Amino acid sequence: MAAAPRPDLLDRLAVQTAIRDGAQLLRRLRTIEHADGPWLETGGRRLLSFCSNDYLGLAQHPQLIAALKRVADDEGVGSTSAHLICGHRAEHAALEEALAAWTGRERALLFSTGYMANLGVLQALLARGDLCVQDKLNHACLLDGAQLAGAALKRYPHADVAAAARQLAGNGEAGALLATDGVFSMDGDSAPLRELAALCAHQGATFMVDDAHGLGVLGERGAGSVSAAGLAQREVPVLMATLGKALGCAGAFVAGPAVLIDGLVQFARPYVYTTAMPPALAAAALAAVRLAQAEDWRRQKLALLIARFRHGAAQLGLALSASTSAIQPLLLGDARAALDAARALEQQGLLVTAIRPPTVPAGRARLRLTLSAAHEESHVDRLLGALENLRLPAAGG
Ligand SMILES: *Cc1c(COP(=O)(O)O)cnc(C)c1O
Repeated sequence: MAAAPRPDLLDRLAVQTAIRDGAQLLRRLRTIEHADGPWLETGGRRLLSFCSNDYLGLAQHPQLIAALKRVADDEGVGSTSAHLICGHRAEHAALEEALAAWTGRERALLFSTGYMANLGVLQALLARGDLCVQDKLNHACLLDGAQLAGAALKRYPHADVAAAARQLAGNGEAGALLATDGVFSMDGDSAPLRELAALCAHQGATFMVDDAHGLGVLGERGAGSVSAAGLAQREVPVLMATLGKALGCAGAFVAGPAVLIDGLVQFARPYVYTTAMPPALAAAALAAVRLAQAEDWRRQKLALLIARFRHGAAQLGLALSASTSAIQPLLLGDARAALDAARALEQQGLLVTAIRPPTVPAGRARLRLTLSAAHEESHVDRLLGALENLRLPAAGG
C-alpha cells in the first residue's frame, strides 16, 4: 500500500492561521514608534495607553536608565555566555541578593524570562508520575511547564480550594506540587493563598506561587502577594516573580531555600542552557527594586487611580470584575465585541487591547485595562469618558 503523502507543515500552519482569522481571533503585531510614559506613538498617532504592565511607572525612570548606561559603559552589552560558564556577573549576584532579602527568602536565582523560570522550576522539581495541581486560570507558562515535565496535570476551577483538595487527595502517594498565580494576569484578582498554603501543608504538597503581578504592587514595601498574605518561606517554598512588570525591566527570578536554588542551578535546563541577561539590565533591575521598596507613594497613587476608575465605572453601570489590582478587566463575552470596543477606544485616542481566546476561555473575551502610577487622574477620567461613549452592556444587563 502506498504511504499517504506527507502533510506540508507550512501549508498546515497557513490553514490554522486562516481559521483563526475567520473566527475573529487573529493576533496582530503593532509597532510602537515611541514611548513617553503612558503615551505611545503608533502609526503616527499618539495614544494614551492602558495596556502596559508598568504598574509603578518605573520603565523610564532616570535611575534605571542611569544604571543601565553606567554598566553598559563599563561592561558592554552582552553577558557573553550562560551563568555557569562566564556570564554570571557581579550585577547579577547583587540583584539576586536584593531580591532574596526583599521577598524574605534565603536565596534567589535569576532567569532570562518568566516563561523560562516557570519551565525550569517545574521541570527540575517534577518527574513523570508526579502530580501537578493548578488553578485553571494560571499563566500559560505554568501549564506548559507541567506538561513539559511529564507530570499529571490537574486544573481546578478558578480559586476553588475544595476542588484543589480533591485533586490532591485523589493521588496521595505521588510527589505533588500546587502552583498558582498570586494575582491572576487576565482577571486581576488574588489567589486564596492562605487557604492553599494550609491545604499544601496538610497534603504534603509543595506550594509554588507565581507573583508576576503582585511583586512591587502588593505587600509591605511592595514585597508581593505572598508577603501580604503573611506567608513565609516555610509555607511557600517556591516563589517566582518577574522583573518585566512592576519593575519595568525584563527577566525573572525564583526565590526560596538554598536546597531549591542549588537544585535549579544543577537541573533547570532553561537556566543552564541559556545566555545570562545583560549585566546592565541586572543593574537597572536592582535600581528598580530599590525604588519599589522605598517609594510607597507609587503604590498609594496607583491605589487611588484604581479606586477612581472603579468608582467611575460603577457609576456608568459597567460590568466590573472582583479585581482590586491594577488589572481591571471589562468582560464583553464574545471576541467580536471586545475587538469592536478596542477599535472604538482607539478612535478616541486610547490604546487598550482586546484579550480573546485562547488566552481566555471561550465566551470570556474582554478589554484588559491596566493602570499605572505613571497615569494621572485626568487620564483615568478620559478613559471613563471614552468608555461611556461606547455604550457597553451594563452590569447584569
Ligand atoms: C508575564 C508573566 C509570566 C512570564 O514572564 P516573562 O518574563 O514575560 O516571560 C509568567 N507568569 C505570569 C503570571 C505572568 O504574568
